[in-house]
Amino acid sequence: MGNIKKVLVANRGEIALRVMKTCTKMNIKTVAIFSDADQKAPFVKYADEKIHIGPSPSNKSYLNQDLIIKSAIDYDVDAIHPGYGFLSENFEFAQKVIDAGLIFIGPSPVAIQVMGDKLSAKKTVSKFKIPLVPGLDEEITDLDLAMNTAENIGFPILIKASAGGGGKGMRIVHHKKEFKQQMERAVSEAEKSFGNGAVFIEKYLEKPRHIEIQILADQYGNVVYLFERDCSVQRRHQKVIEEAPSSVLSEKLRKEMGEAACKVAKSCNYHGAGTVEFIFQDEQFYFLEMNTRLQVEHPVTEMITGLDLVEQQIIIANNQRLNFSQSDLKIKGHSIEVRVCAEDPFNNFLPDTGVIELYEIPQGDGVRVDDCTYQGAEVSIYYDPMISKLIVHANSRVEAIQKMINAINNYTIYGVKTTLPFCKFALNHPDFRNGNFDTRFVNLFIEDFKNSFSSDLVMDAGLAAIFKLEKLDAINVSYLPSKPNNWKNS
Ligand code: ADP
Repeated sequence: MGNIKKVLVANRGEIALRVMKTCTKMNIKTVAIFSDADQKAPFVKYADEKIHIGPSPSNKSYLNQDLIIKSAIDYDVDAIHPGYGFLSENFEFAQKVIDAGLIFIGPSPVAIQVMGDKLSAKKTVSKFKIPLVPGLDEEITDLDLAMNTAENIGFPILIKASAGGGGKGMRIVHHKKEFKQQMERAVSEAEKSFGNGAVFIEKYLEKPRHIEIQILADQYGNVVYLFERDCSVQRRHQKVIEEAPSSVLSEKLRKEMGEAACKVAKSCNYHGAGTVEFIFQDEQFYFLEMNTRLQVEHPVTEMITGLDLVEQQIIIANNQRLNFSQSDLKIKGHSIEVRVCAEDPFNNFLPDTGVIELYEIPQGDGVRVDDCTYQGAEVSIYYDPMISKLIVHANSRVEAIQKMINAINNYTIYGVKTTLPFCKFALNHPDFRNGNFDTRFVNLFIEDFKNSFSSDLVMDAGLAAIFKLEKLDAINVSYLPSKPNNWKNS
């Protein structure tokens, strides 16, 4: 009981800092690992102890499994928290951690392995009568069989890499005649990107919502669901805006999906925090996959449940029981998160790099910024372009949207392009406000976004702090197509 006294966080950036803050709250010492590029990062400063783990490229630092484990032993830690990304869903790493006599803050290596492969996940959950997207749930080895199945389920279909992740390794096929060529490309892409060429086909749903359920499971068989997150605003099959609860779920469906998610967790003897992802269309939900780690968007669940998910992960890893049950959980208010990424929404969300020249975060009741940056920090090419997550919580969805718009207006990031202007556009969009949208949202409205772009939007979006005009003049105002003529110097 309570044997975790020191945790090494095998990650970087906002998630490393976020995990460490909970450790401190729980009186647990923290150890950071960091690469060359992260020498000055706030998460390194924050940690009780720090270890330089290697050069900037991830494969030489944050993915160096043996060195990370050796460091954990050298620094006498009890447990490793993998965060998300990097090694968080690597079952071999989890096993190595355990073999070294340490606690892996996450599920068992077997659960990670089973759920880490989309086909084996589907096979496992289908025994528990979880609805799957219509398709051929096995690796395609026979092209004719695949083609026949595709015709039966009806085009468009989606070719998916079984080992895929991060929205990569998916190809939509609209017509039979493209099928063979797309299949060959998909296999070669999957081999190159994931070292595993297994692909399968699913019906491509044309106007779905992405709705996922957060679960918690202890090591005594207790599983609860912490309701849903709606992550339907996506670019390149990757989330940009997430919210909880979803505006389209009835209480009945919420319960059905929650219970289905708990069954998915039980199907692989899951313990820890996990997310069961579903795709939702015409009041039907279908299992997509299970993510066996903390998700980027977990804060919206924390805001509506009042729980600290990292704390729960540590409690479970400590082999303690969940100290509440399903009936204790209630949704309180509404929460929205926007991912603030160094990307150019005017140019296909292309990642941007550079120095953050100005940085001021919004504050206020129900406003949370999960970040790990500062004025003068560099957004480098080495890691993913997420700068921070901006989260709000309010009594209702309408109030949460307004609070988020105000927060965006008061968020100043200057020096790199960010997703904030697009997020603000989305939050103001009638379809988003009515809750009447699906995963096509970005593609449907990106041109309207570009056309609606005005100097007011730029300033409102908090990209430029008017009162710092002198400073802005001195640096390259690269974001603006032309300098707005109504800038005030106050
Ligand atoms: P990844 O593991 O790469 O994130 P997922 O299976 O979780 O892949 O899917 C990511 C996104 O791709 C979903 O949120 C959804 O927007 C889209 N998607 C996946 N499967 C389908 C499908 N069968 N039909 C339509 N969209 C899909």
